[in-house]
Amino acid sequence: MIIAIDGPSGAGKSTVARALAQRLGYQYVDTGAMYRAVAWKAKRESIGIEDESSLQELASSLRLSFVTEGEKLRFFCDQEEITEAIRTPEISHLASEISKKKGVREALVKKQREMGKEGGMVFEGRDIGTIVFPGADIKFYLTASVEERGRRRFKELLEKGIQVDFYETLREVIERDRNDMTRELSPLKRAGDAIEIDSTHLSIEEVVGEMYRLILEKIGNP
Ligand code: C5P
Repeated sequence: MIIAIDGPSGAGKSTVARALAQRLGYQYVDTGAMYRAVAWKAKRESIGIEDESSLQELASSLRLSFVTEGEKLRFFCDQEEITEAIRTPEISHLASEISKKKGVREALVKKQREMGKEGGMVFEGRDIGTIVFPGADIKFYLTASVEERGRRRFKELLEKGIQVDFYETLREVIERDRNDMTRELSPLKRAGDAIEIDSTHLSIEEVVGEMYRLILEKIGNP
C-alpha cells in the first residue's frame, strides 16, 4: 500500500508521517529532504539556480538513502550524512526555488516512484497525491493555520540550535507556501480524492490516530 501525505510547510507532515509509518510497520519517505539535498549539493558545488541542466544532472546522479533508527530518520547523500545540514532557512529557500525546475522534478519523481515499487510506504511532500502516486491507496492533505505553522517551524529551528526571529520565520513560511502553491509545475494543491485534516488544534497523536482510523475504515487492516 502507498499512503500519500501532502500539505504546506510546518503542518506537521514529517512528524506525523514518521509516526504513522512506525505504527503501520511501513517505510517513510520524506520527499522534501530530496529537494533539500539537491539544494545543499548545488550550493556546495556552486551550481547557480539558473543553470537548469547542471541541476538536472545533479538531481539524477545523487545517491540518496534514508535510514530509520528508532524514532529518527537519518538521511544520506552520496554516503555523506546530511540529516541536519539540510534544515537551515537558507536551504529551505533554495530547495523551494530549485523545486520549480522541470528537470529536477522529473529526476526526483523518478527516484520516488522507484522507491515506491515495493509498496508498504508512507510518502510525504507536496505533489505525492497529485503527481507522484495519483493512484495511492489513501491520500491525506494536512494543513494548519499559518500562525501555528510559523510557530512550529520556529520551535523546530530553535530546538536544532538555529537562532532565528519568529516574524522572520513566519514570513519565510508564507513566502515558501506562496512559491510552492503558485509554481507552474506540480504546484501544491489538495488532490480531489485526498482527505483534509486541519492539525491546528490537534496533537501529533490525535492526527496519527485519526489517519490510522481512516486507513482501517477505507482499506481494512494494512
Ligand atoms: O517538506 P520540506 O519543507 O522539507 O520541502 C522543502 C521544499 O521542497 C518545499 O518548499 C518544496 O518547494 C519542495 N518540495 C516539492 N515537492 C515535494 C516535496 C518538497 O516541491 N514533494
